[in-house]
Amino acid sequence: MNDFEIVDRRFAHYILENAPLEELAGGFRWIEGPVWMGDANCLLFQDLPRDRTMRWIEDAGISVYRSPSGYANGQARDRQGRLISCSHRERCLFRTEWDGSLTRLVDRHEGKPLNAPNDVVVKSNGSIWFTDPLYGIQNDYEGGRQLSEQPPALYRFDPQSGHIAIAAGDFDGPNGLAFSPDETRLYVSETGDQTTDAPRQYIRVFDVAAGDRLFGGEVFHKIEPGYADGLCVDEDGNIWSSAADGVHCIAPGGELLGKILVPHRVSNLTFGGFARNRLFIGGSHTLYAVFLNRRGATWP
Ligand code: MG
Repeated sequence: MNDFEIVDRRFAHYILENAPLEELAGGFRWIEGPVWMGDANCLLFQDLPRDRTMRWIEDAGISVYRSPSGYANGQARDRQGRLISCSHRERCLFRTEWDGSLTRLVDRHEGKPLNAPNDVVVKSNGSIWFTDPLYGIQNDYEGGRQLSEQPPALYRFDPQSGHIAIAAGDFDGPNGLAFSPDETRLYVSETGDQTTDAPRQYIRVFDVAAGDRLFGGEVFHKIEPGYADGLCVDEDGNIWSSAADGVHCIAPGGELLGKILVPHRVSNLTFGGFARNRLFIGGSHTLYAVFLNRRGATWP
């Protein structure tokens, strides 16, 4: 079992003895934003610096889904199954409609442009939550250097009314995010300011109260070795987070249960497959997957 490191005995129940880490495809510049499209039996993900969205199908391999992608990053599906994407280049969230046309959902807060929306989740009530760090506008590699007019923040956006509000601040680099299965908690990774000597590297946890208001926000778990980037949650509420040495599985209590050891730094990951028991992992330039004995969480 060289692909796993068991830290806590509970983790032994989550992995399958005969399910190794599989390498699905390689040669990308930097994988991001994986999302499972069950109705099309495919995975969509970004080759972000190449400005294109890729598609992987089990027996057909890799093809280009969208190019250019607007240097798209994180993706999620809404309650109607429509794809919601973050765009660095356009500094917006956009939606792919059923007919394939694109709708620009939001690109401003209080009259000023967003920075570079990084990752996104949709709550069961339809509200869209996304992070807006500066990474995507700090260089010409992932969308183009542009001026920031807003501090990094976590936003809540209502696609019905068009209302956008800061859900939480005090971030250097808010990044991946996921709700607990009952949506009483929201986990948000802090990737930190990489230009400082000791960037903040941890996952924060918020309590979600009535009216979608957030409380708390304390440090939930420190990812070592970092970085904390994308994360997702399984049916038991465990958090599966990106890390420099692979994927870390963290219990709802905050303790590290074990690791999936990946040869390259992991950027983002998502559950998918027919039973949602397959974890798709973006490891720098290579796409990996592993079957687990747990399913990804669904809306309550
Ligand atoms: Mg990210």
